[in-house]
Amino acid sequence: MFAIIGCQAEAKSQAEPGQKDEQELMDKPKNKSKPELTPLQFHVTQEKGTEAPFSGEFYNHFVKGAYQCVCCGNKLFDSDAKFESACGWPSFSKPADKTNVSESDDSSLSMTRTEITCESCGAHLGHVFNDGPPPSGLRYCINSASLKFVEADSAGD
Ligand code: FE
Repeated sequence: MFAIIGCQAEAKSQAEPGQKDEQELMDKPKNKSKPELTPLQFHVTQEKGTEAPFSGEFYNHFVKGAYQCVCCGNKLFDSDAKFESACGWPSFSKPADKTNVSESDDSSLSMTRTEITCESCGAHLGHVFNDGPPPSGLRYCINSASLKFVEADSAGD
């Protein structure tokens, strides 16, 4: 009897393709490669947006730990490299590992800048400038909305 019910349910879904499409549409937003992002996180990481200065969660955040990609969890920056830049965005002198971020030329907004993205998933993170502190002389200017912070204790560091 149970088998018959199962067959009927299957036959019903095949007989109504419209209903099946609807189900597929409902399933589509559940992108398994990315967690659910807030509208701002989506705008920054997927549409190369920029959060308003002095508005982000981490611009004035100085706690020991690691900053990961909000989309994929790739470790991007250590708190040891974070410094106060007064620019309004989280600023780092270097990435946790240079191979975890990608650099590319960005000539949008009538400026020549170097865009920084997550090497693992391609999420837009921010830009890098040549006005950082020694020894690197670099300032990785990163949107808080592209980051997820893991405190040192919970990160196992
Ligand atoms: Fe990522």
